[in-house]
Amino acid sequence: GFRPASRIASIGVSKILQIGARASAMKRDGLPVIILGAGEPDFDTPDNVKAAAKAAIDRGETKYTALDGTPELKKAIAEKFRRENGVDYALDEITVATGAKQILFNAFMASIDPGDEVIIPTPYWTSYSDIVEICGGTAVLVPCDAEAGFRLNAEQLEKAITPKTRWVLLNSPSNPSGAAYGEADYRPLLDVLMQHPHVWLMVDDMYEHIVYDGFKFVTPAALEPRLKPRTLTINGVSKAYAMTGWRIGYAGGPKALIKAMAVIQSQATSCPSSVSQAASVEALNGPQDFLVERQRSFKARRDLVVAALNAIDGIECRVPEGAFYTFAGCGGVIGKTTPKGKRLETDSDFTDYLLEDAHVAVVPGSAFGLSPFFRISYATSEAELKEALQRIATACQQLA
Ligand code: PLP
Repeated sequence: GFRPASRIASIGVSKILQIGARASAMKRDGLPVIILGAGEPDFDTPDNVKAAAKAAIDRGETKYTALDGTPELKKAIAEKFRRENGVDYALDEITVATGAKQILFNAFMASIDPGDEVIIPTPYWTSYSDIVEICGGTAVLVPCDAEAGFRLNAEQLEKAITPKTRWVLLNSPSNPSGAAYGEADYRPLLDVLMQHPHVWLMVDDMYEHIVYDGFKFVTPAALEPRLKPRTLTINGVSKAYAMTGWRIGYAGGPKALIKAMAVIQSQATSCPSSVSQAASVEALNGPQDFLVERQRSFKARRDLVVAALNAIDGIECRVPEGAFYTFAGCGGVIGKTTPKGKRLETDSDFTDYLLEDAHVAVVPGSAFGLSPFFRISYATSEAELKEALQRIATACQQLA
Protein backbone atom coordinates (compact mmCIF):
# COMPACT_ATOMS: atom_id res chain seq x y z
CA GLY A 1 0.00 0.00 0.00
CA PHE A 2 0.91 3.67 -0.18
CA ARG A 3 3.00 5.02 2.67
CA PRO A 4 2.90 8.82 2.94
CA ALA A 5 6.13 10.68 3.69
CA SER A 6 6.66 11.54 7.33
CA ARG A 7 6.64 15.27 6.50
CA ILE A 8 2.92 15.08 5.75
CA ALA A 9 1.98 12.32 8.20
CA SER A 10 0.44 14.73 10.71
CA ILE A 11 -1.27 16.93 8.13
CA GLY A 12 -4.77 16.22 6.85
CA VAL A 13 -6.70 17.83 4.01
CA SER A 14 -7.74 21.23 5.29
CA LYS A 15 -10.98 21.24 7.32
CA ILE A 16 -12.11 24.20 5.22
CA LEU A 17 -11.88 22.15 2.04
CA GLN A 18 -13.62 19.18 3.72
CA ILE A 19 -16.57 21.33 4.78
CA GLY A 20 -16.72 22.91 1.33
CA ALA A 21 -16.80 19.48 -0.33
CA ARG A 22 -19.53 18.23 2.00
CA ALA A 23 -21.63 21.38 1.53
CA SER A 24 -21.28 21.18 -2.25
CA ALA A 25 -22.33 17.51 -2.21
CA MET A 26 -25.43 18.39 -0.16
CA LYS A 27 -26.22 21.14 -2.63
CA ARG A 28 -25.94 18.71 -5.53
CA ASP A 29 -28.41 16.48 -3.70
CA GLY A 30 -30.88 19.35 -3.90
CA LEU A 31 -30.54 20.74 -0.35
CA PRO A 32 -30.70 24.57 -0.13
CA VAL A 33 -27.21 24.95 1.35
CA ILE A 34 -25.71 28.43 1.74
CA ILE A 35 -21.91 28.30 1.75
CA LEU A 36 -20.19 30.96 3.85
CA GLY A 37 -16.91 29.10 3.85
CA ALA A 38 -15.06 30.30 0.77
CA GLY A 39 -12.14 32.70 1.10
CA GLU A 40 -12.63 34.63 -2.12
CA PRO A 41 -14.39 37.81 -3.20
CA ASP A 42 -17.63 37.30 -5.14
CA PHE A 43 -16.71 40.21 -7.45
CA ASP A 44 -15.37 39.63 -10.95
CA THR A 45 -11.81 40.42 -12.07
CA PRO A 46 -11.87 44.02 -13.45
CA ASP A 47 -12.36 44.34 -17.24
CA ASN A 48 -9.12 46.28 -17.81
CA VAL A 49 -7.22 43.39 -16.20
CA LYS A 50 -8.93 40.79 -18.39
CA ALA A 51 -8.20 42.91 -21.48
CA ALA A 52 -4.50 43.10 -20.53
CA ALA A 53 -4.39 39.31 -20.30
CA LYS A 54 -5.98 38.92 -23.73
CA ALA A 55 -3.56 41.43 -25.23
CA ALA A 56 -0.63 39.53 -23.71
CA ILE A 57 -1.83 36.33 -25.34
CA ASP A 58 -2.16 38.11 -28.70
CA ARG A 59 1.36 39.52 -28.36
CA GLY A 60 2.62 35.97 -27.88
CA GLU A 61 3.51 36.31 -24.20
CA THR A 62 2.73 32.66 -23.73
CA LYS A 63 6.17 31.29 -22.92
CA TYR A 64 8.27 30.82 -19.79
CA THR A 65 9.17 34.13 -18.20
CA ALA A 66 12.05 35.23 -15.99
CA LEU A 67 12.25 32.83 -13.02
CA ASP A 68 10.77 34.98 -10.25
CA GLY A 69 8.80 37.56 -12.20
CA THR A 70 8.95 39.64 -15.39
CA PRO A 71 10.80 42.98 -15.14
CA GLU A 72 7.49 44.75 -15.99
CA LEU A 73 5.67 43.14 -13.08
CA LYS A 74 8.57 43.66 -10.65
CA LYS A 75 8.57 47.34 -11.62
CA ALA A 76 4.82 47.59 -11.03
CA ILE A 77 5.28 45.90 -7.63
CA ALA A 78 8.16 48.22 -6.67
CA GLU A 79 5.96 51.19 -7.53
CA LYS A 80 3.06 49.74 -5.55
CA PHE A 81 5.27 49.30 -2.47
CA ARG A 82 6.51 52.88 -2.80
CA ARG A 83 3.13 54.46 -3.60
CA GLU A 84 0.91 52.59 -1.14
CA ASN A 85 3.28 51.49 1.62
CA GLY A 86 6.16 53.97 1.58
CA VAL A 87 8.72 51.17 1.28
CA ASP A 88 11.53 51.07 -1.26
CA TYR A 89 12.38 47.68 -2.74
CA ALA A 90 14.86 47.32 -5.59
CA LEU A 91 13.89 44.89 -8.36
CA ASP A 92 16.24 42.21 -6.97
CA GLU A 93 14.45 42.53 -3.62
CA ILE A 94 11.14 41.49 -5.20
CA THR A 95 9.87 38.01 -6.04
CA VAL A 96 6.72 36.80 -7.81
CA ALA A 97 5.17 33.35 -7.41
CA THR A 98 2.07 31.31 -8.15
CA GLY A 99 -0.01 32.87 -5.39
CA ALA A 100 1.03 34.19 -1.99
CA LYS A 101 0.76 30.57 -0.88
CA GLN A 102 3.78 29.68 -3.00
CA ILE A 103 5.59 32.75 -1.65
CA LEU A 104 5.12 31.34 1.87
CA PHE A 105 6.23 27.92 0.69
CA ASN A 106 9.33 29.27 -1.07
CA ALA A 107 10.26 31.39 1.94
CA PHE A 108 9.99 28.58 4.48
CA MET A 109 11.61 25.98 2.21
CA ALA A 110 14.49 28.37 1.68
CA SER A 111 15.02 29.27 5.34
CA ILE A 112 13.91 26.55 7.72
CA ASP A 113 16.04 23.70 9.02
CA PRO A 114 14.58 20.82 11.07
CA GLY A 115 13.51 22.08 14.48
CA ASP A 116 13.51 25.77 13.57
CA GLU A 117 10.56 27.54 15.12
CA VAL A 118 8.01 29.87 13.58
CA ILE A 119 5.84 31.91 15.96
CA ILE A 120 2.25 32.11 14.73
CA PRO A 121 -0.49 33.93 16.68
CA THR A 122 -3.85 32.12 16.74
CA PRO A 123 -6.37 32.19 15.21
CA TYR A 124 -4.32 31.80 12.03
CA TRP A 125 -4.82 30.87 8.41
CA THR A 126 -4.45 27.06 8.52
CA SER A 127 -1.90 26.92 5.73
CA TYR A 128 0.70 28.73 7.83
CA SER A 129 1.32 25.90 10.26
CA ASP A 130 0.92 23.18 7.65
CA ILE A 131 3.49 24.77 5.33
CA VAL A 132 5.90 25.24 8.25
CA GLU A 133 5.49 21.55 9.17
CA ILE A 134 5.96 20.37 5.59
CA CYS A 135 9.20 22.36 5.52
CA GLY A 136 10.41 20.57 8.66
CA GLY A 137 9.89 23.47 11.05
CA THR A 138 7.90 23.72 14.26
CA ALA A 139 4.91 26.03 14.45
CA VAL A 140 4.80 27.75 17.85
CA LEU A 141 1.16 28.75 18.27
CA VAL A 142 0.35 31.64 20.60
CA PRO A 143 -3.35 32.02 21.52
CA CYS A 144 -4.69 35.56 21.06
CA ASP A 145 -8.26 35.80 22.30
CA ALA A 146 -11.12 38.09 21.31
CA GLU A 147 -10.55 40.32 24.35
CA ALA A 148 -7.05 41.02 23.01
CA GLY A 149 -8.56 41.86 19.63
CA PHE A 150 -7.08 38.56 18.36
CA ARG A 151 -3.73 40.38 18.34
CA LEU A 152 -0.36 39.28 19.68
CA ASN A 153 1.15 41.56 22.33
CA ALA A 154 4.78 42.32 23.15
CA GLU A 155 4.82 40.22 26.32
CA GLN A 156 3.51 37.15 24.50
CA LEU A 157 6.03 37.62 21.72
CA GLU A 158 8.93 38.02 24.13
CA LYS A 159 7.90 34.82 25.92
CA ALA A 160 7.55 32.81 22.71
CA ILE A 161 11.01 33.67 21.35
CA THR A 162 13.71 31.00 21.87
CA PRO A 163 17.18 30.55 20.39
CA LYS A 164 15.50 28.35 17.77
CA THR A 165 13.03 31.01 16.62
CA ARG A 166 13.54 31.75 12.95
CA TRP A 167 10.42 33.71 12.08
CA VAL A 168 7.42 35.49 13.50
CA LEU A 169 4.51 35.41 11.07
CA LEU A 170 1.89 38.17 11.33
CA ASN A 171 -1.19 38.62 9.16
CA SER A 172 -3.05 41.94 9.08
CA PRO A 173 -5.94 42.18 8.38
CA SER A 174 -6.31 38.57 9.43
CA ASN A 175 -7.91 35.55 7.92
CA PRO A 176 -9.91 34.31 9.89
CA SER A 177 -10.47 37.05 12.50
CA GLY A 178 -10.53 40.21 10.37
CA ALA A 179 -8.42 41.83 13.11
CA ALA A 180 -5.73 44.23 11.96
CA TYR A 181 -2.60 45.76 13.51
CA GLY A 182 -2.42 49.54 13.42
CA GLU A 183 0.81 51.42 14.03
CA ALA A 184 0.23 51.44 17.81
CA ASP A 185 -0.32 47.66 17.80
CA TYR A 186 2.80 46.96 15.74
CA ARG A 187 5.20 49.31 17.52
CA PRO A 188 5.73 47.29 20.76
CA LEU A 189 6.16 44.08 18.74
CA LEU A 190 8.77 45.69 16.50
CA ASP A 191 10.58 46.96 19.61
CA VAL A 192 10.76 43.38 20.91
CA LEU A 193 12.11 42.17 17.58
CA MET A 194 14.80 44.88 17.66
CA GLN A 195 16.14 43.12 20.78
CA HIS A 196 16.34 39.72 19.02
CA PRO A 197 18.45 40.05 15.88
CA HIS A 198 18.17 36.32 15.05
CA VAL A 199 14.38 36.53 14.59
CA TRP A 200 12.99 37.46 11.17
CA LEU A 201 9.57 38.93 10.51
CA MET A 202 7.20 37.66 7.85
CA VAL A 203 4.06 39.74 7.28
CA ASP A 204 1.11 38.73 5.16
CA ASP A 205 -0.59 41.92 3.91
CA MET A 206 -2.98 40.09 1.60
CA TYR A 207 -6.10 41.93 2.82
CA GLU A 208 -4.48 45.38 2.86
CA HIS A 209 -7.15 46.91 0.66
CA ILE A 210 -10.11 45.55 2.60
CA VAL A 211 -10.26 47.74 5.74
CA TYR A 212 -13.11 49.73 7.30
CA ASP A 213 -14.03 52.75 9.40
CA GLY A 214 -10.97 54.72 8.33
CA PHE A 215 -8.55 52.11 9.67
CA LYS A 216 -5.05 53.10 8.62
CA PHE A 217 -3.20 50.15 7.15
CA VAL A 218 0.55 50.07 7.81
CA THR A 219 3.29 47.56 7.10
CA PRO A 220 6.26 46.92 9.43
CA ALA A 221 9.02 47.46 6.84
CA ALA A 222 7.79 51.06 6.55
CA LEU A 223 7.30 51.52 10.30
CA GLU A 224 10.71 50.24 11.33
CA PRO A 225 13.32 50.56 8.55
CA ARG A 226 15.91 48.96 10.84
CA LEU A 227 13.91 45.72 10.65
CA LYS A 228 13.55 45.84 6.87
CA PRO A 229 16.78 43.81 6.32
CA ARG A 230 15.05 40.87 8.07
CA THR A 231 11.44 41.40 7.02
CA LEU A 232 9.58 39.66 4.22
CA THR A 233 6.52 41.66 3.10
CA ILE A 234 3.99 39.39 1.38
CA ASN A 235 1.09 40.55 -0.73
CA GLY A 236 -0.82 39.52 -3.85
CA VAL A 237 -3.56 40.31 -6.31
CA SER A 238 -5.98 37.52 -5.28
CA LYS A 239 -8.15 39.36 -2.77
CA ALA A 240 -7.76 43.05 -3.72
CA TYR A 241 -8.46 42.54 -7.42
CA ALA A 242 -10.70 39.46 -7.22
CA MET A 243 -8.00 37.44 -9.01
CA THR A 244 -7.80 34.23 -6.95
CA GLY A 245 -7.72 32.03 -10.05
CA TRP A 246 -4.89 33.91 -11.73
CA ARG A 247 -2.49 32.70 -9.05
CA ILE A 248 -0.11 35.61 -8.59
CA GLY A 249 1.43 36.55 -5.25
CA TYR A 250 4.53 38.61 -4.54
CA ALA A 251 6.88 39.75 -1.81
CA GLY A 252 9.59 42.27 -1.02
CA GLY A 253 12.54 41.33 1.16
CA PRO A 254 16.31 41.22 1.53
CA LYS A 255 18.15 40.16 -1.61
CA ALA A 256 19.77 37.03 -0.15
CA LEU A 257 16.41 35.63 0.94
CA ILE A 258 14.76 36.55 -2.37
CA LYS A 259 17.59 34.72 -4.19
CA ALA A 260 17.22 31.61 -2.03
CA MET A 261 13.46 31.60 -2.67
CA ALA A 262 14.18 31.67 -6.42
CA VAL A 263 16.23 28.47 -6.03
CA ILE A 264 13.17 26.68 -4.62
CA GLN A 265 10.87 28.12 -7.28
CA SER A 266 13.26 27.15 -10.08
CA GLN A 267 12.74 23.48 -9.21
CA ALA A 268 9.02 23.76 -8.48
CA THR A 269 7.25 25.85 -11.12
CA SER A 270 10.07 27.53 -13.16
CA CYS A 271 8.04 30.77 -13.18
CA PRO A 272 4.54 32.09 -12.56
CA SER A 273 2.06 32.11 -15.47
CA SER A 274 3.10 34.61 -18.17
CA VAL A 275 -0.47 35.70 -18.94
CA SER A 276 -1.33 36.16 -15.26
CA GLN A 277 1.77 38.29 -14.76
CA ALA A 278 0.74 40.60 -17.63
CA ALA A 279 -2.73 40.86 -16.08
CA SER A 280 -1.21 41.69 -12.68
CA VAL A 281 0.85 44.54 -14.18
CA GLU A 282 -2.44 46.12 -15.27
CA ALA A 283 -4.08 45.40 -11.90
CA LEU A 284 -1.30 47.25 -10.05
CA ASN A 285 -0.73 50.08 -12.58
CA GLY A 286 -4.34 50.59 -13.69
CA PRO A 287 -7.17 52.52 -12.04
CA GLN A 288 -7.61 51.77 -8.34
CA ASP A 289 -10.84 53.68 -7.64
CA PHE A 290 -13.06 50.58 -7.76
CA LEU A 291 -11.31 49.35 -4.59
CA VAL A 292 -13.13 52.01 -2.55
CA GLU A 293 -16.46 50.99 -4.05
CA ARG A 294 -15.86 47.34 -3.19
CA GLN A 295 -14.77 48.27 0.33
CA ARG A 296 -18.05 50.09 0.81
CA SER A 297 -19.97 47.04 -0.29
CA PHE A 298 -17.94 44.73 1.98
CA LYS A 299 -18.49 47.10 4.91
CA ALA A 300 -22.28 46.99 4.49
CA ARG A 301 -22.12 43.20 4.62
CA ARG A 302 -19.78 43.21 7.61
CA ASP A 303 -22.17 45.45 9.53
CA LEU A 304 -25.13 43.26 8.60
CA VAL A 305 -23.39 40.06 9.72
CA VAL A 306 -21.91 41.44 12.96
CA ALA A 307 -25.26 42.93 14.04
CA ALA A 308 -27.17 39.74 13.23
CA LEU A 309 -24.64 37.57 15.08
CA ASN A 310 -24.62 39.73 18.19
CA ALA A 311 -28.44 39.59 18.31
CA ILE A 312 -28.24 35.81 18.79
CA ASP A 313 -28.24 34.48 22.33
CA GLY A 314 -24.99 32.56 22.91
CA ILE A 315 -23.02 34.16 20.05
CA GLU A 316 -20.61 37.05 20.44
CA CYS A 317 -18.88 38.84 17.60
CA ARG A 318 -16.17 41.48 17.76
CA VAL A 319 -16.25 44.11 15.00
CA PRO A 320 -13.39 43.26 12.62
CA GLU A 321 -11.19 46.01 11.16
CA GLY A 322 -10.78 44.34 7.79
CA ALA A 323 -10.81 41.33 5.43
CA PHE A 324 -14.20 39.70 4.69
CA TYR A 325 -14.50 37.39 7.68
CA THR A 326 -16.16 37.43 11.07
CA PHE A 327 -14.81 35.19 13.81
CA ALA A 328 -17.57 34.89 16.38
CA GLY A 329 -17.45 33.22 19.77
CA CYS A 330 -19.96 30.39 20.23
CA GLY A 331 -19.11 29.47 23.83
CA GLY A 332 -22.74 30.21 24.76
CA VAL A 333 -24.12 27.32 22.72
CA ILE A 334 -21.55 24.73 23.83
CA GLY A 335 -23.15 22.24 26.21
CA LYS A 336 -26.61 22.72 24.71
CA THR A 337 -28.58 19.98 22.96
CA THR A 338 -29.95 19.96 19.41
CA PRO A 339 -33.58 19.04 18.58
CA LYS A 340 -32.25 15.64 17.44
CA GLY A 341 -30.77 15.11 20.89
CA LYS A 342 -27.09 15.67 20.14
CA ARG A 343 -25.08 17.54 22.77
CA LEU A 344 -22.76 20.21 21.31
CA GLU A 345 -19.33 19.60 22.85
CA THR A 346 -17.13 21.61 20.49
CA ASP A 347 -17.30 24.39 17.90
CA SER A 348 -16.98 21.68 15.29
CA ASP A 349 -20.18 20.02 16.66
CA PHE A 350 -21.87 23.42 16.36
CA THR A 351 -20.80 23.99 12.74
CA ASP A 352 -21.83 20.38 11.88
CA TYR A 353 -25.25 21.16 13.38
CA LEU A 354 -25.53 24.38 11.34
CA LEU A 355 -24.66 22.51 8.16
CA GLU A 356 -26.92 19.51 8.75
CA ASP A 357 -29.95 21.19 10.29
CA ALA A 358 -29.79 24.80 9.06
CA HIS A 359 -27.99 24.13 5.78
CA VAL A 360 -25.43 26.85 6.38
CA ALA A 361 -21.75 26.03 5.87
CA VAL A 362 -19.29 27.87 8.14
CA VAL A 363 -15.87 26.84 9.48
CA PRO A 364 -15.17 25.99 13.15
CA GLY A 365 -12.50 27.91 15.06
CA SER A 366 -10.62 24.65 15.64
CA ALA A 367 -9.59 24.81 11.96
CA PHE A 368 -7.78 28.07 12.79
CA GLY A 369 -6.33 27.02 16.14
CA LEU A 370 -8.76 28.86 18.45
CA SER A 371 -11.99 27.54 20.00
CA PRO A 372 -14.90 27.90 20.58
CA PHE A 373 -15.40 30.16 17.57
CA PHE A 374 -16.65 29.94 13.99
CA ARG A 375 -15.72 31.84 10.87
CA ILE A 376 -18.15 33.34 8.40
CA SER A 377 -16.89 34.56 5.04
CA TYR A 378 -19.26 37.37 4.06
CA ALA A 379 -18.03 37.71 0.48
CA THR A 380 -21.50 36.78 -0.75
CA SER A 381 -24.73 38.62 -1.59
CA GLU A 382 -26.64 40.49 1.13
CA ALA A 383 -29.76 38.44 0.32
CA GLU A 384 -27.91 35.18 0.97
CA LEU A 385 -26.27 36.59 4.10
CA LYS A 386 -29.64 37.66 5.53
CA GLU A 387 -31.16 34.26 4.85
CA ALA A 388 -28.13 32.45 6.32
CA LEU A 389 -28.10 34.58 9.49
CA GLN A 390 -31.84 34.03 9.94
CA ARG A 391 -31.25 30.28 9.74
CA ILE A 392 -28.37 30.44 12.22
CA ALA A 393 -30.55 32.44 14.64
CA THR A 394 -33.38 29.92 14.36
CA ALA A 395 -30.99 26.99 14.81
CA CYS A 396 -29.60 28.58 17.97
CA GLN A 397 -33.11 29.24 19.34
CA GLN A 398 -33.93 25.56 18.88
CA LEU A 399 -31.10 24.46 21.16
CA ALA A 400 -32.09 23.41 24.65
N1 PLP B 1 -2.75 34.83 2.90
C1 PLP B 1 -3.96 34.81 3.46
C2 PLP B 1 -4.14 35.39 4.81
C3 PLP B 1 -5.03 34.19 2.81
O1 PLP B 1 -6.25 34.17 3.37
C4 PLP B 1 -4.82 33.62 1.53
C5 PLP B 1 -5.91 32.91 0.82
O2 PLP B 1 -6.90 32.51 1.36
C6 PLP B 1 -3.54 33.67 0.99
C7 PLP B 1 -2.52 34.28 1.71
C8 PLP B 1 -3.19 33.02 -0.32
O3 PLP B 1 -3.53 33.74 -1.41
P1 PLP B 1 -3.07 33.34 -2.87
O4 PLP B 1 -2.28 32.08 -2.80
O5 PLP B 1 -4.34 33.19 -3.63
O6 PLP B 1 -2.24 34.49 -3.36
